[in-house]
Amino acid sequence: MINQDTLKIKLAQLVDYAKDNLSLRLEDESFVTNTLLATFGLGAPVTDTEGYGELQKDIVDPIVDYAAESGMIKEEERLLFETKLLGSVTPMPSSVVDKFDVIAANKGVKSATDWLYKLCVANNYIRMADISKNIKWEHSGKFGKIGITINLSKPEKDPKQIAMAKLLPKTGYPSCLLCPENVGYAGNLNHPARQTLRIIPIKLGGESWSLQYSPYQYYNEHVIALSNEHRPMAVNGDTLFRLLDFVDTFPHYFIGSNAALPIVGGSILTHDHYQGGSKVLPMFEVGARKNFACKKFKDVKISIADWYNSVVRICGKNKFEVHETATNVLEKWFDWSDESVGILCNTGEQHNAVTPIARKEGDGYIVDLILRNNRTDEAHPYGIFHPEEKLHNIKKEGIGIIEVMGLFILPGRLKSELETVKDYLCGKKNVDLKELNDAENPMFKHAPTILQLVNDHGTGRDRVFADKVVTDYVNDACEQILECTAVFKNDEQGQSAFDKFMTAGLGYTQI
Ligand SMILES: [Zn+2]
Repeated sequence: MINQDTLKIKLAQLVDYAKDNLSLRLEDESFVTNTLLATFGLGAPVTDTEGYGELQKDIVDPIVDYAAESGMIKEEERLLFETKLLGSVTPMPSSVVDKFDVIAANKGVKSATDWLYKLCVANNYIRMADISKNIKWEHSGKFGKIGITINLSKPEKDPKQIAMAKLLPKTGYPSCLLCPENVGYAGNLNHPARQTLRIIPIKLGGESWSLQYSPYQYYNEHVIALSNEHRPMAVNGDTLFRLLDFVDTFPHYFIGSNAALPIVGGSILTHDHYQGGSKVLPMFEVGARKNFACKKFKDVKISIADWYNSVVRICGKNKFEVHETATNVLEKWFDWSDESVGILCNTGEQHNAVTPIARKEGDGYIVDLILRNNRTDEAHPYGIFHPEEKLHNIKKEGIGIIEVMGLFILPGRLKSELETVKDYLCGKKNVDLKELNDAENPMFKHAPTILQLVNDHGTGRDRVFADKVVTDYVNDACEQILECTAVFKNDEQGQSAFDKFMTAGLGYTQI
């Protein structure tokens, strides 16, 4: 453990770091220094800091070690304490908003988001050290490139837990992880500390919303727009207008909403929010499979995107025409049934849903509407348009907005489980059916995969070969998962049912 003199140096280095990297102003230096000294019961500060090295290794870790070893905090509270420490040297929310506005006014909104993003990385709100542990690769699939990430920085959720969360009464504070009241929240072992979170007020469709970055960064500058009001997710014409407003304000970002129903929605259905960012997601890169014209707006281009699932793409320069066209598709889809392909929009509860995504290209708007349906039946208790059970070893949770666009975020458990699958192919582990059929064994869910791969490739393979076999298997599973989410399958029957929706349902003419 460092002594008190070294602790004082570390605290002074933290303040220096904040001045250089967190836009901490000179006027706040004494205030912040005194707050830190009081936290540790120290007297006068030191003035000579000898430079500060790396934030985590050279400043934060020694200070948190001191707090843990001196009994100020319990071992499991380390992250909470670290967040408090970094929150105390991050400028107050109002200062951050003011600086964001000044940069936006003088250098443009992209410079302002660049600055905010850097701040969120520099104060460890976005924990790049954890995120860089994620395993990532790309796969060239049938309809284009898909991205695959094994997420080692966030625990996974079961779709049923997510559905149940929607039914929970509004108790506790903050009501959920997305409420604006999270800013500055000290957190506890069930709710992350948010002293380092800073949010920017924005207007969308005349409503008060906020912009923040996701702490998990599934792709570059993963941004979240959240309603200032804690209210359930909803996708309707107003949603589409807000998405278009967002891309008017932040034309360098795309933005989209998860569908508002369980199974096809995201992990948080209780708080209306959108997700966006600077990354060009795989679905954006595919062209049109078929083009259509609508009578009302001659300049609006409508197409079916050439992608795994069922995407209606609307492009145009007139925001109101694009909005009206997209709203019409949305509303028609909500009421569209076609029993020949298993689509029943409502069976006493609503099943048809949409994942909408908006972006700008030059002065044109592009809205992608991914048609979804969350119906279940006896043969498909997890969802008819959800990954089949044989794919649940790879992904069981709802397939949300990021995945349906071709960027897979797979559970962290797969890292070690896939290594074990390779052990079977390399003969490092023997196929023991009793062991594999034991439901308590984490490899139980992979048993059919292991038996199939061993049958196809044997058990005398080297690691390089096994790596390739397992990666190919995951790539193929991800493509199959995307196909499972298609309400209109990519076969003759499915595509002709899609055409029927576009022509008979929406009144468009194929061109
Ligand atoms: Zn909330």
